[in-house]
Amino acid sequence: MFKDIQEKIKNNDINLIQSIDDFLNNFDEKNQEINAFISKNDEVKQLVKLSEERIKTNKSLMLDGIKIAIKDNILVEGLLSTAGSKMLKDYRASYDSTVIKKIKEAGGLIVGKTNMDEFAMGSSNETSYFGVVRNPIDLNRVPGGSSGGSTSAVASGMVDVALGSDTAGSIRQPASFCGVVGFKPTYGAVSRFGLIAMSSSLDVIGPIAKNVTDCESIFNIIAGKDDYDATSIDVLTEDKEWNIDDVKKLTIGVPKEYFVEGINEEVKENINNFVSKLKSLGVNIKEISLTHTQYAIPCYYIIMPAEVSSNLARYDNIRYGSKVNDLNISNLKDLYFKTRGDGFGREVKRRILLGTYVLSKGFYDQYYSKAQKVRRLIKQDFDQAFKEVGLILTPTCPDVAFAFGEKSQDPVSMYLSDIFTVPMNLAGIPAISLPLTKNKDGLPIGLQLTMQEKLDRRLLKISKVFESLINYNS
Ligand code: GLN
Repeated sequence: MFKDIQEKIKNNDINLIQSIDDFLNNFDEKNQEINAFISKNDEVKQLVKLSEERIKTNKSLMLDGIKIAIKDNILVEGLLSTAGSKMLKDYRASYDSTVIKKIKEAGGLIVGKTNMDEFAMGSSNETSYFGVVRNPIDLNRVPGGSSGGSTSAVASGMVDVALGSDTAGSIRQPASFCGVVGFKPTYGAVSRFGLIAMSSSLDVIGPIAKNVTDCESIFNIIAGKDDYDATSIDVLTEDKEWNIDDVKKLTIGVPKEYFVEGINEEVKENINNFVSKLKSLGVNIKEISLTHTQYAIPCYYIIMPAEVSSNLARYDNIRYGSKVNDLNISNLKDLYFKTRGDGFGREVKRRILLGTYVLSKGFYDQYYSKAQKVRRLIKQDFDQAFKEVGLILTPTCPDVAFAFGEKSQDPVSMYLSDIFTVPMNLAGIPAISLPLTKNKDGLPIGLQLTMQEKLDRRLLKISKVFESLINYNS
């Protein structure tokens, strides 16, 4: 935890200057294996001395001495911000996103930018222009996506904490695959100013760490209404810490639709065992129904591509580090064909095509406006459920980390890996993935907890109680 790290720096058990030097000097060698990073930040060196001094003189800021990795779709002034795409491979941000401004003010040491699926589209980190990311727990397996660089950086111990973004599960699913904690806040709880947009009505930035307490600290730093993001809001405060007796006063809902055929048997068994453990401790468990769960993926794969096609229309390779001259372009149409054809990868192109289709005249009502209505029904399922229960418990994913290539040739099977995480984005509610246990091959299984919108801080406090019941790291 951050406090322990600062304590160690203070007592000279950690030499901060050396640890940052080590990171920067041995970066290529350390990153080679898992490829969690796209770039490192040498500038961080200039901050280390002061950071250490503050810690040693008891004036430390919240994040002094803490190594942080930032997903490469979040702008950090002066650093490359590629979003994992060839289109932005030379793009350096000219300003700090709101979250970065806050992290810097809290003394955080940003050591590098993490690899990701191109424009955050993917569940395996196989779509990055900068190569695949490997899961540090099993190098033959994917880390999940799209924030797989961030979760691998944390799981491998290269950094203390990381930021990711979650549009349909991109924080929680890779957190589950890599055995770390990943938190997706309420939509709007964290400013999106300076986040390279994928699907603006779903995107949210959140923390990834080894424990809930560190996620909570980061969330408290980055959350809050921001003048630069009209959709941003303040979520509720929660001062009191929770304990198991408080949890017993809640009813916990377990939706039957999340245990359907096709879910990995070991995932199911371990979640069920944990539910039994909760029951034996005297926690109230209730089976609930989220009836429209089966429509979440089709609904997402209409709304998201529609927003993607609109958000990505701006990339014409003229304003962002263009290579136009190399492409032998003679007219405007040629320019669009060649630069967009060259700059975007297959998955991104597929979604732009899908999105343009569902928004086109004649199909708009049939697809896009219908999907908006289904989205409403999915939200209503949760509203209904939260009248009966205080918290919803599910697996984070139907499966554990899969092997490279296993799903990349079959987009639909890849899309299905988000089935348990998409609904929370469509409903805009907070959810967290906690590492529960490992299967017999040593691969992590994640547990997801979900609450009503704006109860982010309560969800984090409750998650600490669950974490203590689980003991994943011991
Ligand atoms: N797997 C989802 C997708 O491919 C995740 C997107 C996300 O959350 N950024 O769209």
